[in-house]
Amino acid sequence: MLKDVYTFEDLQHWGEATAGIQPPIRLAVTGDPVAHSASPAMHNAALAKCGIAATYARLHLRPEELAAGLRLLAPNHFIGLNVTIPHKAAVLSLVDTVDEHARKIGAVNTVLVEEGKLIGFNTDGPGLVRAVRAEFGVDVRDMRVMILGAGGGAGRAIAVQCGIEGCERLVLVNRTLEKARQLADELSPYFKGPHVSGPLSRLAAIPWEEDALKSQLNQIDLVINATSVGMKHADFSPLPSSLILPHLMIYDTIYTSNRTQLMCAADEAGARSANGFSMLLHQGALAFEIWFNREAPLEEMRAALLGK
Ligand code: NAP
Repeated sequence: MLKDVYTFEDLQHWGEATAGIQPPIRLAVTGDPVAHSASPAMHNAALAKCGIAATYARLHLRPEELAAGLRLLAPNHFIGLNVTIPHKAAVLSLVDTVDEHARKIGAVNTVLVEEGKLIGFNTDGPGLVRAVRAEFGVDVRDMRVMILGAGGGAGRAIAVQCGIEGCERLVLVNRTLEKARQLADELSPYFKGPHVSGPLSRLAAIPWEEDALKSQLNQIDLVINATSVGMKHADFSPLPSSLILPHLMIYDTIYTSNRTQLMCAADEAGARSANGFSMLLHQGALAFEIWFNREAPLEEMRAALLGK
């Protein structure tokens, strides 16, 4: 019977640990912890829909097991792997080749096993772009974007993606301002072009303070929450409704709740909002496209994530 979570020890004796499992496990998500991951439901629905004879499982690897665990993928006939917290940055230096995009982001969330070699990709940033298009009907490249939590892994992936897309403006906000400043320095080559949106600087890092936020928000179209604030039920909204202007589109990357505190604050202010479910879906669809070089069955993946 398929286990909820496989371990490094299982991977070392894979034939034995997965005996009788049909179709065989050839894809997995690894993290520490990983038991909460919804990726198996989404990808197993996609595999079934496409008639691909493979099962997707959860694989718990501790940081000290990661390098050896990755080396066991090819001998055990894996097609690929998804990588989640806390391994995304570490995997970058453990694969044979890193896609240019993942290198710029500095993190890998998708691994393809090809002819015994591991290739690292990152679909978080491109997934966010597709999600914003699906939710609001706009392209990130046309937007003036503010990222809350520009010091974390997701915030960084999204900020680099905004740079690659060439968005109109990018304002980075982080509780620890120094991290946002460093990221802004790194991204400055992307924002050297001429101003389309007035005299304000195209790229800025600002402190998480009411006055600083207020002075920027009327020059922003899209606010993305990439902090972990809102994951717990008792959390406050990272932006109070009094600061949210009705013209703003608010994308909360958190997907553990249907209506996050930030979305409730957006409702109060009359602004449109969406949660991170669509980013989760699209980063998964992009990973599927990397593994199988074919379009992902989005509707089946969406339904599986929703538990339908
Ligand atoms: P992370 O690397 O731990 O980063 C956490 C970020 O949140 C940092 O910027 C941190 O600021 C900030 N933060 C934490 N507590 C805060 C507080 N009380 N006040 C203000 N800022 C605070 O985590 P991550 O992996 O980037 O994940 C961040 C969020 O993205 C999570 O909610 C996760 O669910 C979401 N996410 C969603 C998807 C998706 O597909 N929808 C994919 C990836 C991640 P400091 O730098 O100051 O500590």
